[in-house]
Amino acid sequence: MGYQGVILGYSKEIVLNPNEKLAVDETGSTHYSDRCYEAVEEWKQGTLETLRMVGSGDFLAVKLTGAGPIAVDAMRARWPMPEVMVKAVDEICAATKEQGSRLWLDAEQQILQRGLDDWAIDIMRKHNCENTPLIYNTIQGYLKESKANLDHHITMAAQEGWSLGIKLVRGAYIEHEVRSLIHDTKEETDQSYDLIADTLICQKLPEEAKHLQFPSAALFLATHNAASAANAIATHQGLLHTKQPTIPLECGQIQGMADELGCELVHNYEQALARSSMFNVTVPKAFKCMAWGSVAECMGYLHRRAIENRGAVERTHHMADALRKEVWRRIFARISVDKI
Ligand SMILES: Cc1cc2nc3c(=O)[nH]c(=O)nc-3n(C[C@H](O)[C@H](O)[C@H](O)COP(=O)(O)OP(=O)(O)OC[C@H]3O[C@@H](n4cnc5c(N)ncnc54)[C@H](O)[C@@H]3O)c2cc1C
Repeated sequence: MGYQGVILGYSKEIVLNPNEKLAVDETGSTHYSDRCYEAVEEWKQGTLETLRMVGSGDFLAVKLTGAGPIAVDAMRARWPMPEVMVKAVDEICAATKEQGSRLWLDAEQQILQRGLDDWAIDIMRKHNCENTPLIYNTIQGYLKESKANLDHHITMAAQEGWSLGIKLVRGAYIEHEVRSLIHDTKEETDQSYDLIADTLICQKLPEEAKHLQFPSAALFLATHNAASAANAIATHQGLLHTKQPTIPLECGQIQGMADELGCELVHNYEQALARSSMFNVTVPKAFKCMAWGSVAECMGYLHRRAIENRGAVERTHHMADALRKEVWRRIFARISVDKI
């Protein structure tokens, strides 16, 4: 379809009720059946199967909650990652590296996210040993504490010397969350998203880390919002053209959504490629993100997309126009090549 890469995720997941209590016995310890351990193994196999479907340079989207109660309970209680999960995740990271792909950890509901951030930092510390990050964590701009969370990630990476991979989203769990944790208005979420992108692109160190050097980092801008994408790309291009330091930037949208933005990014990349060699293209690559699994496994994912797409009917004309334009652009590009 012309995109420069894909992101593929295995949809198995658990969506929690924030009021549910953790199941522990009277001694305070949790015991799991063999079935729970099998669930971790099944999730690992499904994730490795997903990895084999993507190529070098592509992303594997990993949903840690797919591993079932052992992962979910520990994440929720902010315990260290259980040994069985450490082994599974290490195997997935090693296979991703060997294939030349990359991996991101999907963000979840707030009830799990703090534990997930702790684990993500542990995983990046262990596996992001080179300048280009192998593992990315997801930051949700709709959370009031998202900028502080980003600053914490930057400080840890700068202090400890590992590379930081960040995938930036606005956040998909607004209907399942404690509302007070999320910015009060959509405009505030938009500002928060753009501020986080700007902080990374302009390599702004947090106050407490001013004495350190900005860590090696990369940003994946996951959004359907054309204004946010345009802002971030303009800042990035400005820094590159004036030879100021910045970090690698890539963009992506979900399959079936915001094709008008995806097509524009593909077009910009192709134009830049026509003007220079593949290794000198500075405009961000465009990716498409997909999830797969049985219908039951995909229900949570589809439900979140249905909520996001409530405004889709109004956007349909806009998207159809953009796609029509793109088809004609590709036909004319083909005719010009044939003539030459
Ligand atoms: C490639 C990709 C991967 C993704 N992975 C994840 C993931 O791992 N975890 C995850 O949670 N989400 C994920 N998402 C979904 C994402 O969080 C958003 O829900 C979705 O992209 C819509 O936001 P937007 O940036 O495209 O912009 P828009 O469509 O402009 O913004 C919509 C978003 O704004 C926020 N918002 C809406 N109304 C309000 C309000 N009244 N107050 C405050 N905020 C409001 C919500 O976050 C809503 O989703 C992913 C999206 C993409 C494109």
